[in-house]
Amino acid sequence: MIGHELSGYVASGPDAGKLVVINPYVSCGACRACRRGKPNCCSAISVLGVHRDGGMCARIAVPAENVYPADDLTPQQAAMVEFLAIGAHAVARSCTGRGTSCS
Ligand SMILES: [Zn+2]
Repeated sequence: MIGHELSGYVASGPDAGKLVVINPYVSCGACRACRRGKPNCCSAISVLGVHRDGGMCARIAVPAENVYPADDLTPQQAAMVEFLAIGAHAVARSCTGRGTSCS
């Protein structure tokens, strides 16, 4: 069950064949954290490639809300979106920008 940085091709439906970025964090949508808009803190979180099959499998089922169009990205670039987004989010929350200070 390895491969939590992944991209994939949609297998069926109107978007069949399209490359997608996959958010590997599958949340329940019902717990307190999810209801507060913090699905990353879900008490029942299930991570593709950690708790369930991930990118090293030939085919996996992923909730529709966890996939995003990859547009012009390559499959390799699309697989890097998740960890780059974590870095971007951390920098955005930090006090490291020019002219900013932590108090
Ligand atoms: Zn939840």
